[in-house]
Amino acid sequence: MLSSYYYQKFLRLLGVLIKDIYDDNGTTIIEIQMERKPHSCPCCNHVTNAVHDYRLQPIKDLPAFGNNTILLLRKRRYVCKDCGKRFYETLDFLPRYYRHTKRLAFYILQQLSSTHSFKSVSASVNLSITTVIRIFDNLSYAPQSLPKVLGIDEFKGNTGHEKYQCIITDPENRTIIDILPNRYKTDLTSYFLKFDTSKTTLFISDIWGTYRDLAKELFGSATYVIDKYHYARQVL
Ligand SMILES: [Zn+2]
Repeated sequence: MLSSYYYQKFLRLLGVLIKDIYDDNGTTIIEIQMERKPHSCPCCNHVTNAVHDYRLQPIKDLPAFGNNTILLLRKRRYVCKDCGKRFYETLDFLPRYYRHTKRLAFYILQQLSSTHSFKSVSASVNLSITTVIRIFDNLSYAPQSLPKVLGIDEFKGNTGHEKYQCIITDPENRTIIDILPNRYKTDLTSYFLKFDTSKTTLFISDIWGTYRDLAKELFGSATYVIDKYHYARQVL
C-alpha cells in the first residue's frame, strides 16, 4: 500500500489520493479523490467538513507511458450545516468547467507554439484535432486575483483569428493564470484593470513594448524584469 505522499509525487498533483488504476481499452483510468478537508461555505463562510455526495467526473490528463490517461475524479460535494448550501470542493489543478487538467492544456499550448500544427499536437496527446482546437479556443481560467510574481508571454496561435495569444503565468508557483486571445494593449489594459494590480511585486515579460507600457502604467508597485529566456512560459 503506497502512502499518499507517493501518490502525490507520482501524479504531481497535491492533495490527490489514488483510489484505483485500471486499463480500459488502452486508456489508463486513474481513479482519484481529493483529501477531505474543511471548506468554508461560499454563502455564509461557516466552516464545514460534512460530505453531501460524490459525483464521478472524467478529466483528461497528459498521456502516461504511451497510453491515454483519464483521471476519474470522485468529486465531493460538501454541505453547510449552517445554511444548507451544497458546494463542490475546490480543485487547483482543474480550470473551472473544463474537463482536462491545466497541465494538459498547457502542454498543448507549448506544443502549438513550437510546432504550429494542430495535427501533430493532437497526435502527440492522443486527442482529436477538434478537441485540441477547442482547448485552444475556449481556455478560460477565470482567475480571482493576480499573483505576486506575474509572467506574461505570447505564443503564436493557429486559430485563424489572432496571430498572437497571451499567456499569463505565476512562475513562482508554476501555474497558468490565464490565456488571453490577443496581445493588444487596449484589451490587456481592460483585462488587468479588473484586478488589484498593487499586490504584484514582480512583472516579467519579453521586450515587447506593450508589456513594458503595461508594467509602467498598471503595475506601479512591481519591479519590471525583461525575460530573455521566456522564463514566464516555463511554468510546468
Ligand atoms: Zn453556509
